[in-house]
Amino acid sequence: MDYVILGNGIAGVSAAETIRQLDPEGGITIVADETFTPYSRPMIAMVLAGEVSSDKLPIRKGSFYDDLRISAVLGNRVSGIDVDQKRVMIQNDAYLPFDKLLIATGADPRPIKAEGLSLNNIFFMRTEAHIRDMLAAISEAKKALVLGGGLVGFKAAYGLLKKGLDVTMLITSGYPLSLQVDETTGKLILDELRNYGLKVRVGISVEAFEGNGAVAGARLSDGSHATCDMVVVGKGVLPALSFVPRDKIDVDLGILVSEQMETSAAGIFAAGDVAECVDVSRQTRWVNAIWPEAVTQGRIAGSNMAGRPVSYRGSLSRNVLRILSLDVMTMGMVNAPDTSEYEVIASLNPGSRTYRKLVFRENTLCGAVMLNAIEQGGILMGLIQNEIPINVPKKVLLQPTFNFKQLMI
Ligand SMILES: Cc1cc2nc3c(=O)[nH]c(=O)nc-3n(C[C@H](O)[C@H](O)[C@H](O)COP(=O)(O)OP(=O)(O)OC[C@H]3O[C@@H](n4cnc5c(N)ncnc54)[C@H](O)[C@@H]3O)c2cc1C
Repeated sequence: MDYVILGNGIAGVSAAETIRQLDPEGGITIVADETFTPYSRPMIAMVLAGEVSSDKLPIRKGSFYDDLRISAVLGNRVSGIDVDQKRVMIQNDAYLPFDKLLIATGADPRPIKAEGLSLNNIFFMRTEAHIRDMLAAISEAKKALVLGGGLVGFKAAYGLLKKGLDVTMLITSGYPLSLQVDETTGKLILDELRNYGLKVRVGISVEAFEGNGAVAGARLSDGSHATCDMVVVGKGVLPALSFVPRDKIDVDLGILVSEQMETSAAGIFAAGDVAECVDVSRQTRWVNAIWPEAVTQGRIAGSNMAGRPVSYRGSLSRNVLRILSLDVMTMGMVNAPDTSEYEVIASLNPGSRTYRKLVFRENTLCGAVMLNAIEQGGILMGLIQNEIPINVPKKVLLQPTFNFKQLMI
């Protein structure tokens, strides 16, 4: 059996390991455009901030490919898939045949519409190479604009501030992390960032970058100008699937997969940030581009590819974040649709800045956001993931001290 895996991120690596465990003899080839040893993508932000060195990034040994007898075709971009002939197209018009294929090409930074994007010192932050380029530019830079208030935008802004730059975050929505948290949490995070010295402007975006060769400023959506000598664009990601033939493999935002992580084309699987599957809390298809889901999906895909059937219940968005002095935990739907099916309960203590909010769909929990009171978050996550009916007064779950025993009535 010849297995081909596209992408050497955590989804591709997890799949390769699972396949090798189940099929000691099969041929495994990984094709990837990055040449670095498989590494922790979330940790690149810590390299930017100077909190760890880049030699701490690898998540596997340098001998990973040899140890698992994987043929690694690195520094090579996939340009197409011939579904009927079962082969992928790589550089120099070469073809790689496969019996089973996994698409695990992750995501690309979401492009933005603004003039002047080709000026120097405008960066995206997705790869280890991006960080190297940013660190080279930082030594000359003084004033940075960070576009986007999501996870990547926040981590970029924090890193640049730690490097001594004067940083302004420009956020289109009214508060940071608007996809992860609700308004109450977002406003508390906003205060925290500003108190720390970050300049944050909300409800604003960039229309054009200006400069001669390198970026020197930006024209903003309210007509004002901002000076800067460095820009980081962190406006989310899009599944990296430009090479996927849409007439042969069903695609919505991501590649549509079954509970076995198989695409609409038999024998072709997808996992990680590139895949779109059912979201257990939203009960609809969703792309949850997070590390733990990429691990699980890679393993499930690998197992099914190697002939051991396993099903996936679906993904769940979740994050545990330390934002300066704030502990934030968020999972599932944190903003409930305004219908009678949903019930929201919350408790806020502005003095201690503690907050817990729970979202229920009838008698199951489907979302939670917690700030500085994240205790029992693991139990809450289990209740959501397994759709366990809540048969006790819901407010019991608001107490950080509740325990399993209290749920057993
Ligand atoms: C700065 C940052 C911070 C993050 N923080 C968190 C966090 O705190 N918590 C969390 O859960 N998640 C976080 N994430 C998201 C997390 O890193 C991703 O969900 C995870 O890496 C996805 O793994 P993957 O294997 O699906 O894709 P990737 O890690 O993107 O790997 C895909 C690989 O495929 C390669 N590839 C793409 N297209 C092609 C092609 N055409 N040909 C060949 N190779 C190709 C890519 O170069 C890449 O090497 C963060 C991401 C970033 C960038």
